[in-house]
Amino acid sequence: MKTSIATVSISGALDAKLRAIAAAGFAGAEIFENDLLSTHLSAREVAALMADLGLACTMFQPFRDLEGLPEPQRQRAFDRLERKFDVMGELGTDLLLVCSSCSAQADGNRERILADLHEAGERAAARGLRIGYEALAWGRHVNDHRDAWGLVRDADQPALGLALDSFHSLSRRIPSSSIGDIRPDKLFIVQVADAPLLEMDHLSWSRHFRCMPGQGEFPLDDWAEAIRRIGYDGYWSLEIFNDRFRAGSASGIALDGYRSLRLLEGGIARPSPAAAALPPRADPLAVDFIEFAASHEEAAQLGAMLRPLGFRPVARHRNKDVTRWAQGPINLVINCEPEGLAHSFDIVHGASVCAIGIALDDVPAALARADFLRIARFEQAVAPDEWPIPSVRGVGGSLIYLVDAATRAEMWAHEFPHPLEEPDTAPLLTGFDHVAQTMQFEEFLSWLLFYVGLFAVSKTPQVEIADPMGLVQSQAIESANHAVRFTLNGSLAHQSLSSRFIQNYFGAGVQHIAFGCDDIFAVADAASAGGLPVLEIPRNYYDDIEARWGLDPGLIERMAARNILYDRDGDAEYFQLYSRAFARRVFFELVERRGYAGYGAANAPIRLAAQARHKPETID
Ligand code: MG
Ligand code: MG
Repeated sequence: MKTSIATVSISGALDAKLRAIAAAGFAGAEIFENDLLSTHLSAREVAALMADLGLACTMFQPFRDLEGLPEPQRQRAFDRLERKFDVMGELGTDLLLVCSSCSAQADGNRERILADLHEAGERAAARGLRIGYEALAWGRHVNDHRDAWGLVRDADQPALGLALDSFHSLSRRIPSSSIGDIRPDKLFIVQVADAPLLEMDHLSWSRHFRCMPGQGEFPLDDWAEAIRRIGYDGYWSLEIFNDRFRAGSASGIALDGYRSLRLLEGGIARPSPAAAALPPRADPLAVDFIEFAASHEEAAQLGAMLRPLGFRPVARHRNKDVTRWAQGPINLVINCEPEGLAHSFDIVHGASVCAIGIALDDVPAALARADFLRIARFEQAVAPDEWPIPSVRGVGGSLIYLVDAATRAEMWAHEFPHPLEEPDTAPLLTGFDHVAQTMQFEEFLSWLLFYVGLFAVSKTPQVEIADPMGLVQSQAIESANHAVRFTLNGSLAHQSLSSRFIQNYFGAGVQHIAFGCDDIFAVADAASAGGLPVLEIPRNYYDDIEARWGLDPGLIERMAARNILYDRDGDAEYFQLYSRAFARRVFFELVERRGYAGYGAANAPIRLAAQARHKPETID
């Protein structure tokens, strides 16, 4: 795939944008006119910089309101066109994007439009240049790529072709099968954007909600497949207008952009025909362990919360000040080392989750996938007698360890050979249920792309959760076997719990860990007997759910006595219990699912309000 990105997609001055685009791995960039107007570099200097960076200038854009105008506006539009041709010569690109007209003065007469497009093509040809004509979704007379293609075909001028933009076609729900009619030699460029499916005017939707392939809900696999099928072999160029992206770092957004095109290449929701030649997404089998960084004092506090939940410190690391806590298939690692990543993490964030181990069948393939997406590997010196576990950088600088599922029992035995206590023979908990990560609103889509790019996971629809202090956006990603589930949460409201988490934590990280169980009441009783502090739920809540679901009063009393929350989806039921927070940061959730697939979003406001009552002590 020949990759390109429009400079409008990222933040900063033009030269900084181009450096970020080149560093991310793109082969080319479209120069957005406003970026050129606002830079101190001349067009020739921009061309020289792009040559230095190894970037092709794929297009100059946009040229608006060309066709269908009356005189004298028509003449002025063509004069303006010639001026842009001059700039293109200096920029070193031969392709100009001409958007379908939005002018109130433009005539919709097809013969007029054809004549103007033909003349524009002739003038471009005379200069050795080309025009890509794009149907804007909000174009006055031309707003459908099928019409734009008909005009390009009938104008029959070799220097006039089509620019196809996924946003304009998919926002209008134009069937991608119609792309089959387009001649590949006439498709001059393809512009790519994803977006959430919204009901709103096309212009605002485009300006504020475009996002990268894999972050939205457009059927891009079908669209891209239709383009490949006609034999198109030109650039795939991202064109993303999004306030959130422009607020982020240029290098981070450029890297996400590169990653998103690679994801599209192999297929987002299903493999593309090209996927066989690319490193496949890794199929996550299970969360193998979660590692905490903590001081000794914090480790003792954490241990005091883990014991009532049935965990025991089962072994010590062969060389390091690291303890393995376990029950059944669940492993927690508490790292008190005085140096290394966990220690740095503890210094920056305080006691918290610094790594998550994901069990996979094919670790080398997962690493190849990470390299393909330019996801940074993390290398830390290991002693010659230690088991090397490859890792990549995840949310907030934490690590994701890629654990070989076939050898994980040997790995644990080798790394933790010094036994401490016997594990409980009757585990209370059955496994990790989900891991909740909280991040800056701006980072939300970036991490979503990270997970769906690296792992074979599906994403649930985005939900908005009402925090007492503002809205929180939440979305889950899930493996096919449901053993690996992460919920991602981001908020723009400064006083929401999510935002306070980030402020107190100095960055994104794990906010809660949910464990599954078969008997939430037994877990609640054991936790209570062991002295685990749990989040207190108001009585009003129980009166409400009793009325709402017609629940048995005896069940209501048992839940109320234990602060257990309840949700229902058809006949499926969900029971939840929250601990208070460890180190004012991370808390535990205990869940019992009876056929229920969600995460209790209906209860999130109750939980958040209960946690907010403990303000200003942050989230505990
Ligand atoms: Mg476009
Ligand atoms: Mg949860």
